[in-house]
Amino acid sequence: MNLSIVVPVYNEEDNLPLLYQAIKNAMSGVENTWEVVLVDDGSRDNSLAVLEELARQDSEHLRIVGLRRNFGQTAAIAAGIDHSVGDIIVLMDADMQNDPADIPMMLEKIREGYDLVSGWRIKRQDAFITRTLPSRIANSLISSVTGVHLHDYGCTLKAYRREVLTGFRLYGEMHRFIPVYASSVGAKIIELPVQHHPRKFGKAKYGLERTIKVVLDLFTVKFLSSYANKPIYIFGGTGLGFILLSFLALAYLAVRRLFFVVSPFSSPLFPVAIMVGILGFQSILMGLIAEMLMRTYHESQGKPTYAVRRMINIQPDAPALKRR
Ligand code: UDP
Ligand code: MG
Repeated sequence: MNLSIVVPVYNEEDNLPLLYQAIKNAMSGVENTWEVVLVDDGSRDNSLAVLEELARQDSEHLRIVGLRRNFGQTAAIAAGIDHSVGDIIVLMDADMQNDPADIPMMLEKIREGYDLVSGWRIKRQDAFITRTLPSRIANSLISSVTGVHLHDYGCTLKAYRREVLTGFRLYGEMHRFIPVYASSVGAKIIELPVQHHPRKFGKAKYGLERTIKVVLDLFTVKFLSSYANKPIYIFGGTGLGFILLSFLALAYLAVRRLFFVVSPFSSPLFPVAIMVGILGFQSILMGLIAEMLMRTYHESQGKPTYAVRRMINIQPDAPALKRR
């Protein structure tokens, strides 16, 4: 099995030579053939030139992708994955906060049969108030909403079997949610404590605002992982709830009219009940539109609604194999 280490790079000129050395040291005892795909995400410093020089020295292992402008860490990671060839993909940061020395241990877990090995920075070396604390809250929130319990979604250092990385595209800041997607197609996931070092060179690119983006992304991820194949359940469920509410309110007004002779039209509850009822119908109609969209998505791209782990004695002319 061969290995691709994918690293997004944005203004990390001083870290790159150290990173390369550290990866080389870590790989010296590993049997796998390996490559490092470094993606320059439109750096404004000399990162790209440094990368070019390194790639000249070690053309066997180093591949460089230079993006035209700064597209963000997630897009850079996606570019790196697309340009890599390994069966196993390790993602890590370029800033030497992750330690390549942890990679062999992660490969061991993949060899044992896990599909995803998630690094967990037990002793995190970042500012407590702006980074570590919000991240802890975000991790427990993501874990409880998605049902995929991990201590450290934000740790980039993770190892993946390539199969669990295909079939979806990474948008926005979503690389941290890969384990949720992977788990939704049945990946076996394990957590592994990894080292974390303070940043020595360059600046951290993010602050507190990222936590807000993460929370917003969580809505999308939860929706897509739980309801993408059955949107009518969530839209329709909400719709039916609204209609029931509306019905109860109208029934209450009707009872008042019949037994206490109070006109329903004098109560503000009346227009509210009508509105909630309309909202309910709207919501169900939206669910139907979503069902159509979902079918277009799957059928136009020939995407199956399932994921296969293993095939035994399957004939090569089975429709599922021809579709690829
Ligand atoms: N990065 C990137 N594009 C960006 C911002 C960051 O490729 O727009 C890279 C950066 O060079 C580093 C990794 O993403 O390798 C993580 O960035 P950083 O260390 O600033 O994030 P933190 O460790 O603070 O979460
Ligand atoms: Mg960092």
